[in-house]
Amino acid sequence: MSGILYIVPTPIGNLGDITARAAETLSAVDFIAAEDTRVTVRLLNHLGIKKQLVSYYEHNAVESGEKILSRLIAGESCAIVSDAGTPAVSDPGEALVKSCAEMGIEVISLPGPCAAIAALAVSGLSTQRFTFEGFLSVKRKSRFDHLKSLRAETRTMIFYEAPHKLLTTLGDMLSELGDRRISISRELTKLHEETIRTTLSQALIHFNDNPPRGEFVLVVEGAAGSDIVNEKTASPAEAAERVDELRSGGMKLMEAVRLVSEETGISKNELYSVCVSTRE
Ligand code: SAM
Repeated sequence: MSGILYIVPTPIGNLGDITARAAETLSAVDFIAAEDTRVTVRLLNHLGIKKQLVSYYEHNAVESGEKILSRLIAGESCAIVSDAGTPAVSDPGEALVKSCAEMGIEVISLPGPCAAIAALAVSGLSTQRFTFEGFLSVKRKSRFDHLKSLRAETRTMIFYEAPHKLLTTLGDMLSELGDRRISISRELTKLHEETIRTTLSQALIHFNDNPPRGEFVLVVEGAAGSDIVNEKTASPAEAAERVDELRSGGMKLMEAVRLVSEETGISKNELYSVCVSTRE
């Protein structure tokens, strides 16, 4: 019988955030797959655990993944950890979990630290519905396409960002999404932890005066009724233009039709027909 892959979240700054179950699992498994074995050794030393570590990161994921899978198939158990937070969330792990799922190998996910969820919870913005957007691309076009596709997104949006790109990102968000509320969490769980609840324009001013340092999560308010086509006044032609706008941002036709149909109340069939007929 094959072994089990355990997804083990690790602290994002405060070692006290390791859970008792995470520590037990790290000490019970046969081996640990780690994003950076040097980082994980420090955590294991802190916990007093000695365990075989294998490296598993973006650039060796195929080769290392195959070795890990064959050990799992042979019956060994493995814990996957990243440098900080939850593996497979903007971190190595997604491909390994997918392979396990395809091969019928059991995967157990331990709940634990995740910067996105910690930042969302403290944001003061709506937590009813949210989307995780990860890192915006460093490539200008992809970054703008990504942001354009989010213009009508009504759910709260969570982004990860590096300090040296923060000002550019805030500027791009302001130009593409308009001036929205944003909650910026910096250095969560660490000594200089802070959460600034402000607007995109004020955040730009703030970080121009105070150069960004540390790790950041940006939690951006979703589009309000006034930011999107108005339900009562949008004509099918206006709605079709909105579909075109979303498509130019890279969204697929049916997805754009679904979204604009929700925004405007115009049925998907009607909107689709207008889009197709006016663009033939
Ligand atoms: N898988 C991790 C998780 O679950 O949080 C995220 C890994 S991703 C490579 C690293 C990004 O997460 C950072 O660039 C930053 O945006 C965010 N992050 C990680 N730790 C953080 C912290 N202590 N405070 C704020 N943001 C953090």
